[in-house]
Amino acid sequence: MYSKLRVYKSGIHLGEERIVAGNCNSGMVNFSGCHLACNFCYTPETSVEQLGQDFSTGEFAELLEELVVRGARNLNFISPSHVWAVAAPAVRRLKAKYGRRLPLILKTSGYERSGMLSSMAALGDIFVPDFKVWSTDVARACNLPADYGITAQSAIRQLLQTHGATQYTHDRKIASGVLVRHLMMPEHFDDSLAVIDALGEIGFRSYLNLMTYYYEPRSRRILNANPSQRDLLVARAEQLGMSVMVNGKPFQEQERKLYA
Ligand code: SF4
Repeated sequence: MYSKLRVYKSGIHLGEERIVAGNCNSGMVNFSGCHLACNFCYTPETSVEQLGQDFSTGEFAELLEELVVRGARNLNFISPSHVWAVAAPAVRRLKAKYGRRLPLILKTSGYERSGMLSSMAALGDIFVPDFKVWSTDVARACNLPADYGITAQSAIRQLLQTHGATQYTHDRKIASGVLVRHLMMPEHFDDSLAVIDALGEIGFRSYLNLMTYYYEPRSRRILNANPSQRDLLVARAEQLGMSVMVNGKPFQEQERKLYA
């Protein structure tokens, strides 16, 4: 049980998914440490080296207030699961003061159990869980728990029950809802298809953000997904009723590669 949490970076940023309310001026907090150890992690400075500064709950509440004073239109937490017990009371204080005027976005790993999700659902407005892999083989190959896929599916199913009905602001930004992120890895295309199908199976019809490139720490290269494979995934997700974004932006018709 942690008594402090560690913040790697915080500040006012443009949030990645522009369709989310407040992401023009997002109060981002990137926590240090992680409860997973994916071998494709592109932020080893947080997950492995655990760089950053420690905060008690009271100090963290002050940090959040400072972000609001500096113009944050939302609070945007990246990888909060392992420090949620310390962060939650601070969030409660801010929520008591600002309420729905300050949406809380929680970017989670997808590997959260039911009790933790219930606690998060009581405070979070917008959930952006990862759905990284589906099969046990690919999970093991990525150094994820073997039950990652089924756990992520069940976590997203639970979030759909509380936050499944997407709510919008007057300017059509998402004020409450569930957006799923999936990182395409070139060597695991079939598993990406299985992830999309697993989302379809639980009736997920919201926004899917496909991330198509990442910095691979071992090779120190940027790895890009094959555009044809990307288009196949987009087509499958759309067939199942999802709205697809690619790297945080709506997927444009003209970007599609048409092939026989
Ligand atoms: S969940 Fe995210 S931060 Fe944690 S090890 Fe995996 S990729 Fe890195």
